[in-house]
Amino acid sequence: MKECIFCQIAEKKEKAYIVYEDEKNIAFLDIYPITIGHTLVIPKKHIIFHTDLEPEDAGPFYRAVYLVSKKLQKAFQPEYISLLIRGTRVPHLHCHLIPKIKDKDNIFDKILDLHHFLQVRIKTNLEEKDFEEIQKRIRES
Ligand SMILES: [Zn+2]
Repeated sequence: MKECIFCQIAEKKEKAYIVYEDEKNIAFLDIYPITIGHTLVIPKKHIIFHTDLEPEDAGPFYRAVYLVSKKLQKAFQPEYISLLIRGTRVPHLHCHLIPKIKDKDNIFDKILDLHHFLQVRIKTNLEEKDFEEIQKRIRES
């Protein structure tokens, strides 16, 4: 897509700090990093959501996510690397790789910590039969 900034990066028409590339995917530094090494992995093909990936492109995409994560692990020795895929803001599938750098707080992890804090304290109104129905619905889809 002509007006999509990520397509332009994939086509090398727009500058980006590229850290990885293969036949179907490319990874580059987020220019608004949450942490050092915050990287985006995108498919070169313009799609919006990860559920839009063709089955034959899903494996290579997640393989690229894994390989770039390993590179970040080697480069920065983070405590762990969080993944985030949404597909909004820039409507071209992108997976954020956000390294948790030792002894450095970041807003992403603080939000997830808050989410966990709330999740375990807010009582769900789902009952066992509801979980079983949800399980059945996913398994049979
Ligand atoms: Zn695009």
